[in-house]
Amino acid sequence: MHPIVSWFTIYLFTFMGEYRFKGHLVEELFKDYRIKEGMKACMNCGVCTAVCPAAEFYKYNPKNIINIVARKNEEDLEDLLKSDTIWYCGECMSCVTRCPRANAPGLVIMALRKLSMRSGLYMQSEKGRQQYVVVKDLCSNILNYGYCVYPRTFDYETHKEFGPVGKWINDNLDDIHARIGSNLDGDGPGGLRKIPKESLDQLKNIFDVTGATELMEQVLNDAHQEAVRENLSDEEYFMEVYTKNDWQKHLNH
Ligand code: SF4
Ligand code: SF4
Repeated sequence: MHPIVSWFTIYLFTFMGEYRFKGHLVEELFKDYRIKEGMKACMNCGVCTAVCPAAEFYKYNPKNIINIVARKNEEDLEDLLKSDTIWYCGECMSCVTRCPRANAPGLVIMALRKLSMRSGLYMQSEKGRQQYVVVKDLCSNILNYGYCVYPRTFDYETHKEFGPVGKWINDNLDDIHARIGSNLDGDGPGGLRKIPKESLDQLKNIFDVTGATELMEQVLNDAHQEAVRENLSDEEYFMEVYTKNDWQKHLNH
């Protein structure tokens, strides 16, 4: 699908104003305990932005985000939720340690991301749509194997940046892991050991009771609907989302 057609679809989606919690975004956001915990009283000093590693590289300013949330303006919040901005944070929490008012911009970002996903507004930004990749790859690895990155599902073809050494490791997994002393898929202790079923069941329970499972299902469903709208298979849509990176739009310099 040509990129212009793809972005026209998103424009149409925006134009039609289709998203959940329309007119109630502020109300929904302020129900999140992370807003209460993370935003007490901001004095606009900008220290969070000064220490933020993401602000060094991206067009990103946590102080401005706190300002927008504090204004409680429905349109401004909608713009923020459908922008790439909220996805630049690395959740390192450096801002928490330095804020003179004990705010936690990183926590506020977490609440914004969740609402962006629940509302569907995340589908209108490049980085937001990449949540599909996170859910499909990382979350399923966690639930199926207990690891974010699991060697047997790691696809070298989509990680060419690892170079020929990465390909060699990918092609000789068992031999290499035996040589470096890891316990790949083995019972008992050791790196990359098989995670027992009881532990995987506990992980699944945590995902269920925290609402993560529901959110993941919603992301998969949104992605499928968008793939249908763009006349793509789910796999083609995955690769479109995975490979699109308009870095000049995102980077600071
Ligand atoms: S460091 Fe704290 S008080 Fe200063 S701008 Fe950031 S959130 Fe506000
Ligand atoms: S948690 Fe996010 S906003 Fe805070 S310093 Fe880290 S990257 Fe910046």
